[in-house]
Amino acid sequence: MFHDKEQFKKSFSRRLEQTSGVSFANSTLQHQYQTLGMMVREYVSSNWIVSNEDTRKGDHKEVYYLSIEFLLGRLLVSSLVNLGVKDLVEDGLKELGIELGNLEEAEADAGLGNGGLGRLAACFLDSMASLTLPGHGHGIRYKHGLFEQKIIDGYQVELPEQWLRNGNVWEVRKPDLAIEIPFWGDVQWIEKNGKLTYVHEHAETVLAVPYDMPVIGYDTDRVNTLRLWGAEPAKNFPSHKDFMQYKRDTEQISEFLYPNDMSNDGKILRLKQQYFLVRASLQSIIREYKQHHSDLFSFHEHIAIHINDTHPALAIPELMRILIDEEKMKWEQAWTIVTNTISYTNHTILSEALEKWSIDLFKPLLPRIFMIIEEINKRFCKELWQEYPGDWDRIAHMAIIAHGFVKMAHLSIVGSHSVNGVAKLHTEILKMREMKNFHEYYPEKFNNKTNGITHRRWLLQSNPELTASINNTIGTAWIAEPERLRELAAFSDDSSFKLEIENMKQLKKKELAKLIFERDGLVVDEHSIFDVQIKRLHAYKRQLMNVLHIMHLYNRMKEDSSFKPHPRTFIFGAKAAPGYEYAKKVIKLVHSVANIVNNDPVSKDYLKVVFLENYRVSLAEKIIPATNVSEQISTASKEASGTGNMKFMMNGAITIGTMDGANVEMRDLVGHENISIFGLEAEEVMHYERYGGYHSHDYYHNDRRIKQVVDQLTSGFFRDSYYDFEAISDSLLMENDQYFVLKDFSSYVDAQEQVAAAYKDRERWLKMSILNIAHSGFFSSDRTVNEYAKEIWNVKAK
Ligand SMILES: *Cc1c(COP(=O)(O)O)cnc(C)c1O
Repeated sequence: MFHDKEQFKKSFSRRLEQTSGVSFANSTLQHQYQTLGMMVREYVSSNWIVSNEDTRKGDHKEVYYLSIEFLLGRLLVSSLVNLGVKDLVEDGLKELGIELGNLEEAEADAGLGNGGLGRLAACFLDSMASLTLPGHGHGIRYKHGLFEQKIIDGYQVELPEQWLRNGNVWEVRKPDLAIEIPFWGDVQWIEKNGKLTYVHEHAETVLAVPYDMPVIGYDTDRVNTLRLWGAEPAKNFPSHKDFMQYKRDTEQISEFLYPNDMSNDGKILRLKQQYFLVRASLQSIIREYKQHHSDLFSFHEHIAIHINDTHPALAIPELMRILIDEEKMKWEQAWTIVTNTISYTNHTILSEALEKWSIDLFKPLLPRIFMIIEEINKRFCKELWQEYPGDWDRIAHMAIIAHGFVKMAHLSIVGSHSVNGVAKLHTEILKMREMKNFHEYYPEKFNNKTNGITHRRWLLQSNPELTASINNTIGTAWIAEPERLRELAAFSDDSSFKLEIENMKQLKKKELAKLIFERDGLVVDEHSIFDVQIKRLHAYKRQLMNVLHIMHLYNRMKEDSSFKPHPRTFIFGAKAAPGYEYAKKVIKLVHSVANIVNNDPVSKDYLKVVFLENYRVSLAEKIIPATNVSEQISTASKEASGTGNMKFMMNGAITIGTMDGANVEMRDLVGHENISIFGLEAEEVMHYERYGGYHSHDYYHNDRRIKQVVDQLTSGFFRDSYYDFEAISDSLLMENDQYFVLKDFSSYVDAQEQVAAAYKDRERWLKMSILNIAHSGFFSSDRTVNEYAKEIWNVKAK
């Protein structure tokens, strides 16, 4: 049905009428989108069946990627791109009077994630399928993804997100494969055939129902599966409980994604979600495995299970439970299988983000799992005692259960064979500081896998114009081997390629300017520098420093009428966790600054501040190709990797950033003259944190630019918000500026001036831009996933 255009047009119109029940002429965009989606699903179904059969045969090692988040975004156009039929479909639709772009907009984002961690999982799925690796995702089918952000009078308001309102064409519900998940209750010893075993009694059971989505690779027949679990009442609901109450309690498990990007709360429900995901996933993996293996003794030779951060870490005790209680294995044998099956990625070193569960909460909810963790801990501490006799301090620091808490990162390290960080710097910090004791004890487990992004979504799909220019210049081999983008370096002085890059950027900026006008009624100068910071709002990401810089530019313009900066449009997009008051104040501050700067006759033709509400994947796809300057300005040592930084680089933006996360590797690849690096380095930040010596007051008193902008926060400068920004001012002065905003301010201002100067030099800027694209191939998630496959999972392409 996608083999030639005429045939496509025919089947599309026929199906549209068959399925929507209205004539072609009366069909809505939603009908048309649904129809095309169904056609894609049908088109891949035979390959999906073949791939699934292949999995079940079990003669090849398979990977299962467990993640509490999958931030997929939209799937229609990326599927068409991967199937190689986008142009045909686009042309065919056009002849029917339909714009593919409009159908694209009819799809809701699958926003089942907060940010980087969930988006990484989505990029990995795309890369695994495209590399024909047998790798599948398991996650939760949240009814409501990350909240929808509305801005009212400059304040963030959260609305429930409703991606399932029009159904989900990509999923297949499989109720016959549902799995029962027990919570609460108690564990009894019973004797069976002369052997003692545990049984879990009086549990409250929840049904996990799988919804499968095909994961379509680029230019391959491989179709992997993303299995998302939805919670429903079980057949045997507890008789002592009111049914409606029971139904609400169960369905709640897959109702909402937790909108907290870093710290975890919502406690019991969150822990329920984690066990729900892990138990359902393992049961389904083992059920398939058993179709071709009579026992689980060589499970780890055929199956790799990866846990994306610690949220699915209960896979470790759960697999122990299955092997011991159900398969009747001995502890040591089970432990060998478990640790050889599981691998773990650490995503953060922010200590407030390291998960731990209070025993009081954990033990009643998951009694048998708790017993197993106690046993793992007991054996581990005993081992440590052998290695470090008498070193109580070290053992207490490393224990899995200590001071009334279960520490999920410790469980993950002890119970897996591989622990990886997500950028070189991040992995080094893990090894040398945060997990130093573990690294000393298990040096062979630690390794680095620098994050990546799928160049198919973030270049081919979101920037077809740049893709075409690259293809015309170096051919198309780079699509399968993205590191071959490097061949573009030879064209960094080529005037016609430079012109193409310039035209591409201009076109994308024009499109974004139009979007900004449609959304906000704001006219932005298409020839201004588009300076962009889009990411979750967090103190360590330092959106505040960006805003203070804008205030400073404005102040300069007010004081010196001869100062005319190169026109800039500062674009922000960010959601703040609903309970994170500081972050919400920063959002308000962006709006208050916009109000002043965008309307003052002195500044409005030079500085524009735009906050694009409801930042999400589909919006990122429109903003990134239009960006000149990418803001990656986190406090050094705090951003594990970042992946936004890579998307911008691949689209020819110049990065202004700190030596943090993958920015370090970006600089090494592109060269220091093609990226603007400023500020404290990680070592310096960590030194101050450990030994003190930083006093933000000194910077406030000794730099009048800083004093001026900080004073403006609380002096009535923002007439609509006298009191809103006290907390921000306090964080900088009273609380000694934990994220070194004032410390780095001056070098940030200098770096921004250099960026503006470079932009004015057209030849230099375009050369920098081309060199950034040319060196971005390393950051394709194909490279990352290949490294995981070879060095962690030991799986091969089919
Ligand atoms: C890539 C991406 C992120 C991660 O951005 P960082 O700048 O690395 O924090 C977050 N949200 C969305 C929607 C993304 O596409």
